[in-house]
Amino acid sequence: MGRIRRLMSEAREFRAPPLAIICCLCARSLPKSEQEAHHLIPRSKGGTETVLLHRNCHKKIHASLSETELAREYNSVERLLMHPEISTFVRWLENKPHHFYEKSRKTNRLKSL
Ligand SMILES: [Zn+2]
Ligand SMILES: [Zn+2]
Repeated sequence: MGRIRRLMSEAREFRAPPLAIICCLCARSLPKSEQEAHHLIPRSKGGTETVLLHRNCHKKIHASLSETELAREYNSVERLLMHPEISTFVRWLENKPHHFYEKSRKTNRLKSL
């Protein structure tokens, strides 16, 4: 009985999500160092709702869309994923190894030395 209860609590701990933050765009795990908040409607247009994304994913959104387009047409994650450039980017990321972001971070650090 005691053993079963211990196993159950271990299972619960295992499921507890310390790393459960997922990028809203590419659905990959999102380390704290990569997190950026994206306003679904740009702040300049009065938006307040944000989603967490990788820095790279966030950059891609703003490289592909103007603030007016974001506010008018791409003001949800579903709509962003319908944008041809962004969906191509997300599909390209899917083929990258899981430590892609960590690798690219290390490269940048080494470059700056
Ligand atoms: Zn992402
Ligand atoms: Zn943004």
